[in-house]
Amino acid sequence: MGLIDAYHQWKESRYENHLSNMKSQNKCPDCNGKGYHTFPVNEFVYYTNPYDCPGCNGTGQYSDWEQLK
Ligand SMILES: [Zn+2]
Repeated sequence: MGLIDAYHQWKESRYENHLSNMKSQNKCPDCNGKGYHTFPVNEFVYYTNPYDCPGCNGTGQYSDWEQLK
């Protein structure tokens, strides 16, 4: 059990937290319920080229994400 393991566990539990958070709001964990992703370059510009979230097929719903994963 080294630092790396601890780091992975920390990351994992953060992810679990995120998942249950999103689940309680029925939001797709990949896109936080938005239904689309924007390219990181455009993050501070108003998004010019969003694409549908592949995790939830663009619906932004947790239930869809769960079915599609
Ligand atoms: Zn999504």
